[in-house]
Amino acid sequence: MLTESSFAARSFKPAARIAEIGVSEILQIGASAAAMRKQGHDVIVLGAGEPDFDTPDAVKEAASRAARRGETKYTALDGSPAMKEAVREKFRRDNGLDFSVDEISVAAGAKQVIFNAFMATLDPGDEVIVPTPYWTSYADIIRIAGAVPVLVACDAANGFRLTADQLERAITPATRWLMLNSPSNPTGTAYTEADYRPLLDVLLAHRQVWLLADDIYEHIVYDDFRFVTPVGLEPALRDRILTVNGVSKAYAMTGWRIGYGAGPAALVKAMAVVQSQSTSNPSSISQAAAIEALTGPQDYLAERREDFRMRRDLVVDALNAIDGLACPRPQGAFYTFASCAGMLGRLTADGRRIGSDRDFCAYLLNAAKVAVVPGSVFGASPFFRASYASSRAELDEALSRIARACNELQRQ
Ligand code: PMP
Repeated sequence: MLTESSFAARSFKPAARIAEIGVSEILQIGASAAAMRKQGHDVIVLGAGEPDFDTPDAVKEAASRAARRGETKYTALDGSPAMKEAVREKFRRDNGLDFSVDEISVAAGAKQVIFNAFMATLDPGDEVIVPTPYWTSYADIIRIAGAVPVLVACDAANGFRLTADQLERAITPATRWLMLNSPSNPTGTAYTEADYRPLLDVLLAHRQVWLLADDIYEHIVYDDFRFVTPVGLEPALRDRILTVNGVSKAYAMTGWRIGYGAGPAALVKAMAVVQSQSTSNPSSISQAAAIEALTGPQDYLAERREDFRMRRDLVVDALNAIDGLACPRPQGAFYTFASCAGMLGRLTADGRRIGSDRDFCAYLLNAAKVAVVPGSVFGASPFFRASYASSRAELDEALSRIARACNELQRQ
């Protein structure tokens, strides 16, 4: 008998634009870990893309006051006037940049800002250059927009930074955008002014190519690294750069869903058209919270940064102490991206051969009950990403389990 739901399952046909886009593998790993937990296994997940800190109290209070004041209605489409002012203040204070109100766009997360920008500008056949390893949503959003992500493999020896030569070779007449992300998810690599300069010079010579700079990890940088954003370095490119940022990572506000962009007014206007037919305005309460985050006291950012730095060093040192792993010390974000090349070819206790980073991560999940993400998910093998946005106790336990499981692997 054909039940209602099996009929629906048979007749369901996804649109071509999403047919080749799978569910995020990172979410799938999280689901496997959750299923193992349910069976009673004590799994530690080092997969999270969000800070483990709580949203600051002052930010929560601001949201609560806004709700009580009745700020519970639709706001201006791509951000309330007060929210846009807060974003302008942030760019002045942190980056020395002056944007006008019509150059600011506010959405439900940096992800929606990027989605709006690509939907507003890409046609079938257009190309977007995405250096790898990369945050996988970039490529999938580009595909949803009907365009082609052109993945350019960056060299681990160069910290996975894109070089001017690689950029020059990847540009074609169909190139519309270059996507850059510093500090990077998944590698933690950050670009200095000297790293950006040659890339900006290439862009100056190719007038059809715009730059989307994803600065979402701006405030999570370590040691004496000085964050810079491309539009601040090359004013001549100002009419071709969209700078994207948000409150998710710096202010531990992933659930509030507020991101923003600053770029040419014509682009911002086109992005508002996309948003007007999807979500309309970002949440009014969340905008009130984000205003407090962006314009209130900023001193806790330095404390949290220092806390992340200690955890980064803990994880990097522990991974490097394991024979077969090599982990560079990232300049920012809260991820390590270690090579597991030395593990390939080794055998598990039940005789299975580690043939790839996927095999290695599956082994860690089964043998060590630690979930990390294979580099192949981000377009680079053989590596794995571990997030250190977890408590020190959890990191200590995870690292000793990883060391034990690695030491149990037999060389052939
Ligand atoms: N860019 C990068 C590189 C990210 O890692 C993330 C979050 N995982 C985002 C953008 C999206 O952030 P938001 O929560 O503001 O949508």
